[in-house]
Amino acid sequence: MRRGFGHAAAFTDFQRYARLCAKTRINSKFSVKDLLFSPLEKKSVALRIAPGNHLCPRVRYIFITGGVVSSLGKGLTAAALGALLEQRGLKVRLQKFDPYLNVDPGTMNPYQHGEVYVLDDGAETDLDLGHYERFTSGTLSRQNNLTSGQVYESVIQKERRGDYLGKTVQVIPHVTNEIKERLKSAGKGVDVLVTEIGGTVGDIEGLPFIEAMRQFALEVGKQNVAFVHVTLLPFLAAAGELKTKPSQQSVAKLREIGIQPDVLVCRTERPLDDDIRAKLSMFCNVPVRAVIEEQDVGSSIYELPEMLAKEKLDDIVLDLLGLKTRKRPNGAWREIVRKLKKPKRRVTIGVVGKYIELQDAYKSVYESLTHGGIANDCGVTIVRLDAEAVEKNPAKMLAKLDGVLVPGGFGGRGIEGKIRAVQYVREKGIPYFGLCLGMQVAVIEFARHVAKLKGANSTEFDTKSPHPVIHLMPEQKGIKTKGATMRLGSYDCKLPPRTISRAAYGKDSVRERHRHRYEFNNDYRELLTKAGLLIAGVNPGRDLVEIVEVAKHPWFVGVQFHPEFQSKPTRPHPLFAAFIKAAIARHGKK
Ligand code: GLN
Repeated sequence: MRRGFGHAAAFTDFQRYARLCAKTRINSKFSVKDLLFSPLEKKSVALRIAPGNHLCPRVRYIFITGGVVSSLGKGLTAAALGALLEQRGLKVRLQKFDPYLNVDPGTMNPYQHGEVYVLDDGAETDLDLGHYERFTSGTLSRQNNLTSGQVYESVIQKERRGDYLGKTVQVIPHVTNEIKERLKSAGKGVDVLVTEIGGTVGDIEGLPFIEAMRQFALEVGKQNVAFVHVTLLPFLAAAGELKTKPSQQSVAKLREIGIQPDVLVCRTERPLDDDIRAKLSMFCNVPVRAVIEEQDVGSSIYELPEMLAKEKLDDIVLDLLGLKTRKRPNGAWREIVRKLKKPKRRVTIGVVGKYIELQDAYKSVYESLTHGGIANDCGVTIVRLDAEAVEKNPAKMLAKLDGVLVPGGFGGRGIEGKIRAVQYVREKGIPYFGLCLGMQVAVIEFARHVAKLKGANSTEFDTKSPHPVIHLMPEQKGIKTKGATMRLGSYDCKLPPRTISRAAYGKDSVRERHRHRYEFNNDYRELLTKAGLLIAGVNPGRDLVEIVEVAKHPWFVGVQFHPEFQSKPTRPHPLFAAFIKAAIARHGKK
């Protein structure tokens, strides 16, 4: 029998059977003759791993922790590993555990947290879930982002209900049980569940998650679990070498809790030589083969799957988990990277926003523009423009662009700059794509300058506007709390014929994700339509305007939803693809 990499000698019959069961599922060539024990034994073992029993070893668990510093790109590493495992034919799901006490990141501002990524079911989650959905095929749900805030909320609710029957409620076992429950439920129906633990090993907040992970491995059997630790190897110019000490110390921190990482993924600016690999192996107690080099990606995050495959990360993890799968097909990610590195053409897109200096605030928007480029074999240079600066001199900042995008946002700062930007591109025929707030400012601009409604605005920015073309829905008016109270998640959108959007989607009905409070005011629908605004998408149930376009413009589309949450490099969103196509056409005319 094949022995798992790095594992100690003997397996019990139970473990052996479990592995063979798993093989049956993944490798159809497996025959019953491979079973090495008697039918009676088989029956008794089978009972113990019956479906529904969380000990069912068909689910394998990978835990990703981070050491030394934050922002190591653990989320990307997890996502890229997920992509590699999917290529092997496995059903993979990724999830994130966040140690902070917020119930979800929906109430945090972009300076604190970067983008809030919205799922189909309306969950407001960490932006790493965006990477997971972009790199793998599964659609995630609120099950897949657990915060300490949620854990404590649930434990305290149970305590108040009296569920703990008078016991003292403690971190171990009550909080850790809550965390383990989530692992069991999220693992249902998949071959491999990859769980990233946010934060850095050694943080006080992260301890219950790491303890739960240790207990969980004990319960389901270590042979079903792989611990991957992502760490940093700083390069010290004075010494002229990469330093391993911080990694040694963060592995020591993990071992203090009883976790020995199986794989060390080393973020590094320079290649790892054999000496460094040997040193890390010895001090961190990890086989040399499992010391993985992860250099900073040259031009795109989509290089990562291939880079990690070269280091055989997937093979190592599969060995650890005792999984035998098909070989990795070549190509998929290579072709994407080829298009990104050597595109046939190039366009420049301006993104006019409020948090432009932040790398992460509009993450999915930037990624989706890149995907739109992939669809057209076109490189996309993104120019980030501060809305307040654009207000002062739109021509100087926008004239040379091939397209302009205004992303989502909240609050009044920069609004007039965004409206000026829209006016400029509408008048000059520059392709425009407005997302959520970007659609709302397009409606305001059109109302003010085309329909001549003086003072038109959204009631978010001017409660006394004489023409509130964007307003609060009646059901939003009574809401006082901020957490999870917006229009959130996927809604249907019907697309009438003869519009840019309908042509791009190639169908008459779509579902898109939302995160907003304000809506197009239907009292102005007739007036604005008469002035030339096209209603190109409507939510059928509530008759809400979802898409507006401007007739007699090469490409002007504003959407009330967030298409950027459904775009992948392997499946670029149709509107982003069409926007980049329009930008290419514009570029050709210059
Ligand atoms: N602030 C606007 C609203 O709440 C737009 C929100 C957004 O762009 N996500 O409706």
